Amino acid sequence: MSTPYWVAGRARRGDEVVAVRSPHDGAPAGATSQATAEDIELAVRLADQTQHEVAALPAHVRSAALDHVSRRLAERADEAADLITAESGKPIAWARAEVTRAVGTFRWGAEEARRFSGELQRLDTEPGSTGRLALVRYVPRGSVLGITPFNFPVNLVAHKLAPAIAVGCPIIIKPAPATPLSALLLGELLAETELPDGSWAVLPMANETAAPLVGDPRLPVVSFTGSDAVGWRIRDQNPRKHVVLELGGNAAAVVCPDWTDATDLDWAARRIAEFGMYQAGQSCVSVQRVYAHRAVYDALVDGVLRHVAALGTGDPRDPGTHVGPLINAAAADRVQSWVRDAVDAGARLLTGGGRTGNTLSPTVLADVPAGCAVLTEEVFGPVLALVQVDSVDEAFKRANESRYGLQAGVFTHDLRLVSRAAAELRVGGVIVGDVPSYRAEQMPYGGVKASGVGREGVLAAMRDLTEPKVVVLNGF
Ligand code: NAD
Repeated sequence: MSTPYWVAGRARRGDEVVAVRSPHDGAPAGATSQATAEDIELAVRLADQTQHEVAALPAHVRSAALDHVSRRLAERADEAADLITAESGKPIAWARAEVTRAVGTFRWGAEEARRFSGELQRLDTEPGSTGRLALVRYVPRGSVLGITPFNFPVNLVAHKLAPAIAVGCPIIIKPAPATPLSALLLGELLAETELPDGSWAVLPMANETAAPLVGDPRLPVVSFTGSDAVGWRIRDQNPRKHVVLELGGNAAAVVCPDWTDATDLDWAARRIAEFGMYQAGQSCVSVQRVYAHRAVYDALVDGVLRHVAALGTGDPRDPGTHVGPLINAAAADRVQSWVRDAVDAGARLLTGGGRTGNTLSPTVLADVPAGCAVLTEEVFGPVLALVQVDSVDEAFKRANESRYGLQAGVFTHDLRLVSRAAAELRVGGVIVGDVPSYRAEQMPYGGVKASGVGREGVLAAMRDLTEPKVVVLNGF
């Protein structure tokens, strides 16, 4: 029997069954069905009809629901992690880490739902406003369509659900076609709560079905996480909607000339190796480009190669595996061809380049000529491009030579360079003393340039899903 989808607080099945298979070996991970046109319409209608009821839910009810999901997910963590690994090929150790993060995302939502409030603003600062006081309330924008990618099939769904529930926006989740099962598990947990039936739904559907839904005026907010091509098209086609875009990147790490201490260098090399290759590079902030000063370059390259060699590659169910498969053969073909192009253009292949099924061996390229796709595009594969630079100026300039701008990592102890990085790097987040891949659930997270617009992170997303409404009081 296929895993049900969720609408109107109930489990439903359609006739069009979809088998979900492991990208590692094609083993069945389960099955679900595409949501029927009637159920999609029901979800949208209910979201529209219940939006005022959902907005008016007391904070303690919203908080309790999120707290419940957090606790139940923690109880079912092993099952959730196994599901992530089965359908996405994410190595089990990383799948477990993702579930732990999602437990935290829901817990943050529960906590912030209790704290999130309005403010009181005095207006008697100018003549003519004596006795006036503004009550600023943050009111939900209305129903949300949340569209999520395959690479964090639980936590990125949590990053849509938790803030929407916390502020009182109804939300419909459209999970990635490759990984619907983990999102449906979250639906099962939401069905155990007291939330109103119309306030949430999880509906697997084909992209062709989702495209018209994006334009439905009854869903005034679209929160999209995925590729920049799809994301910007959605925004361009819906200028009147509130569209949040969390898109791709080709994140850079900069290793500055002061980062010479052997222990420091080993830390940088290990983190760059691990987070260049983790979940086969399929993270929007995996390290892709490394600009290292010549004072540290050779030692860093040696260290990166040593740490890459130690990474387990292969079966994602093995707890020792760090690098599993890419999501499908087309993705593996694309990454391989970009590596080949870089080598043809003069890059040195220091390790990797091989392939077994959809799994690519961790690949390190050095001296990559500017303009190669492995530098300019989002690789989304286990490939690191190392580049030697002569100055910090050059490193920052090269790091900014990207149409993307999600996060950057800067290895330095020099406060002046930290300050410069914060000012000069055109990204949504600068991570000091570590790789760009660092993220905590509560911090504002998102990109500039082609990497998106708007911010997630529980509180940032809550702010984003609301707009201020002012009540001016007279005689105070
Ligand atoms: P994708 O753009 O192919 O798909 C993302 C989602 O959009 C899926 O649910 C897909 O079914 C849906 N979709 C595709 N076409 C659509 C259409 N026309 N209308 C409506 N929905 C449509 O991305 P993906 O391959 O699943 O994920 C990888 C991408 O996501 C990478 O670019 C990665 O960097 C990005 N990503 C960004 C973040 C972030 O927070 N910035 C996090 C994770 C992944």
